Amino acid sequence: MLSADEARAKLLDNARPVRQTEAIPLEAALGRVLAEPLIAAVTVPPLDNSAMDGYALRLADWAEDKWLHVAQRIPAGQLGHPLTLGTAARIFTGAPVPEGADTVVMQEDCEVRDDHVRIAKPPKLGAHIRRAGEDIAHGQTVLQAGERLNAARLGVAASVGATELTVHRKLKVALFFTGDEIVLPGHPLKAGQIYNSNRATLLALLQGLGCEVHDLGIVADNLDATVNALEQASRHADVVITSGGVSVGEEDHVKAAVERLGRIEMWKVAMKPGKPLVYGRLNTIAGVDTDFLGLPGNPVSAFVVFCLFVRPFLLARMGAARAEALSFTVPAGFDWKKPGERREFLRARIEHGRAVLYPNQSSGVLTSVAWADGLVDIESGHTVREGDDVRFWPLTELLK
Ligand code: AMP
Ligand code: MG
Repeated sequence: MLSADEARAKLLDNARPVRQTEAIPLEAALGRVLAEPLIAAVTVPPLDNSAMDGYALRLADWAEDKWLHVAQRIPAGQLGHPLTLGTAARIFTGAPVPEGADTVVMQEDCEVRDDHVRIAKPPKLGAHIRRAGEDIAHGQTVLQAGERLNAARLGVAASVGATELTVHRKLKVALFFTGDEIVLPGHPLKAGQIYNSNRATLLALLQGLGCEVHDLGIVADNLDATVNALEQASRHADVVITSGGVSVGEEDHVKAAVERLGRIEMWKVAMKPGKPLVYGRLNTIAGVDTDFLGLPGNPVSAFVVFCLFVRPFLLARMGAARAEALSFTVPAGFDWKKPGERREFLRARIEHGRAVLYPNQSSGVLTSVAWADGLVDIESGHTVREGDDVRFWPLTELLK
């Protein structure tokens, strides 16, 4: 059995980024991965400009009880005139600072009478001026290849005037669900059946990543059906993901099916929930390897395994340079007395600065994940006493 860290490293080692790229409009690029660096063709801000509504002056012209003539008015979007000696300019936030002015005083610190202004408080040289290029210099690389586009990065791209971005093409993920007992919501449940919750969860997780998803539905628990589905799934996908059927029971056919069509690279991770996680390669007709990831059927295990392993793997396949989630330590608001044989990822919330656990940590209890803010990470063989620091992985990070 591999440790969780070894399994992650192995997966990331095997994740070859999709090579094809495409130019798409900025508006359609949220969540996509930049394939080329973005270089600024402009300077931001283009000119020294005012950070305040107020008055621009030359500091040398200032004296405590001196009235300066307000000789011009510069709203944002207009260029003023060079400041003549002994005058000030009425100026607004974002307006270019006129030539000759070296300081802006905010209007709250000014006394105004007709077209004259007096500033009692000594201004500071250079105050309230945003310098040309202080955000972005012309020719600077503002976004690197491999950066995933979020709201702020799209804003940066727009600030240098980009209308299109060159990104890696979408990753194609085919998906199916094993289990004779699972049915789709919308159908009545017969005795012994349960609804397919993994489909909803995995579709949402994959949509969040921006993958192109091909859902092949529910596949019966027998080898032929599984081989068939796998073969179909691998035809057009970069990655095939399944849920269930990866344990050791005789109703579990996924591993055998993968071995028929390719090979298994790993299949067990020493963690709880989780454990079964099959990673393999499928040989496709086109001769291209398709990646295979078989998730456990238990809904909590499927979710946690996706967040910790599948997501970073898919991000790397999408071309992302960084796939790490941030974690931090928090004091435990609980005792964990029995050391586990496997590393545990417990569903937890932060309350009053401490991690508290969902009362039922069974891998079938999906409400624990819906309730949780994150996962508390406890190494195998470790115990925890209330107040000890424990590692916490926020779901916002794991799903970012
Ligand atoms: P398996 O990994 O196939 O042995 O399944 C483990 C457990 O997860 C069983 O209790 C299954 O009924 C349940 N399970 C499997 N697939 C799903 C699914 N798609 N949605 C909800 N529960 C599932
Ligand atoms: Mg099953």
